[in-house]
This record gives sequence, C-alpha cells and structure tokens, in this order.
Amino acid sequence: MDLKSLIRDIPDFPKPGILFRDITTLLRDRQGLRYTIDFLAEKCSEATLEIDYVIGMESRGFIFGTPLAYKLGAGFIPVRKKGKLPAAVHSIEYELEYGTDCLEVHRDALHPDSRVLIVDDLIATGGTASATAKLVQQIGCELVGFGFIIELRDLQGRKHLPDVPIISLVEY
Ligand code: IMP
Repeated sequence: MDLKSLIRDIPDFPKPGILFRDITTLLRDRQGLRYTIDFLAEKCSEATLEIDYVIGMESRGFIFGTPLAYKLGAGFIPVRKKGKLPAAVHSIEYELEYGTDCLEVHRDALHPDSRVLIVDDLIATGGTASATAKLVQQIGCELVGFGFIIELRDLQGRKHLPDVPIISLVEY
C-alpha cells in the first residue's frame, strides 16, 4: 500500500518554512490504519525484537504505540511532557532548537531488565527519540529498537540514536 498517498503535507506549519507531515489522514483511512500497524508489527517481528514494553512518546507515539503493543503481546508505557503523569517520575531534559524540553516516565513503570521498543510517528532530528532512549537506558532497561512511521532522512536523526535496529515505514 502506498502510505505516502495517505499522509498529507501541510506547508508552513507550525511555523513558516516547515513542511508538516500530517498523519491524521492516514489514521482516518480504515485500510491505511490497519496496514500501518500490521506492517510495523511485522517489521518488528522480523527484526526479532522480542519485547516486554512499547514506549510511546506524547502524543502521536501513543496512537501508534498502543495498537503495536497489543499486536506484539507487549505492554504500553507512555512517555509524557513534564507535569502530566500523576505518580512519581524519572525525567530527562533535552535540547531543542531554542531552549530545552523535558520528558517523563512513571518510576514504577519500568524495571532494569525490561526489554523496550521506542515508538513515535516521526523521526526528524532524532532529539525526542534520543532523549527517550537515554531515559530508559538510565533506568537500566534493554533498548531493543525504534519504530517510526515516518523518517525525514535529510535530518539524519538516526545518527543520534544508539546502535539498535531502527525501523521506519515511509521515508522523505
Ligand atoms: P525530532 O525530535 O526532531 O526527531 O522530532 C520528532 C518529534 O516531533 C516527534 O514526536 C514528532 O511527532 C514531531 N514532529 C516533527 N515534525 C513533524 C511532522 O512533520 N509531522 C508530525 N510530527 C512531527
């Protein structure tokens, strides 16, 4: 299936000069949605990524990460922006183009021998995925791979990620 034809390009969002890849058009397509999750699960299984948990980043990582976890027979753990999770958290700060941001995960969600797969809708510079990797590795988890629907190749985000399998379904 041609997933690119279901992803909408929005110029100048969220600011001038940025071409936003909008996955809401893919999500609303019943065949596209099913194919995307099935294809991602198949590629993860092929890479023999046996996992305990899928970790999804707020907020589009939740959308793809949860059905993927269901298909893989794993649990799902959300990584959220600062102040959103109700119980005690581990946090990590990371650099943005301007300033810093912070991601958090519940302290009791992961234990040191957990095998985890990090999932998001898109990898651009790799900052978000790399910070999430550091967060789970600080806890002592075994990071077994990354899964993305979209990879923006020119930004070379994968260069900033640890040496584990990196799966993406669509490249621009
Ligand atoms: P990175 O940290 O630069 O790799 O950016 C990836 C994060 O920004 C992901 O959480 C994405 O959801 C979001 N993002 C960046 N660009 C886009 C886009 O064009 N479409 C959808 N999400 C984007």
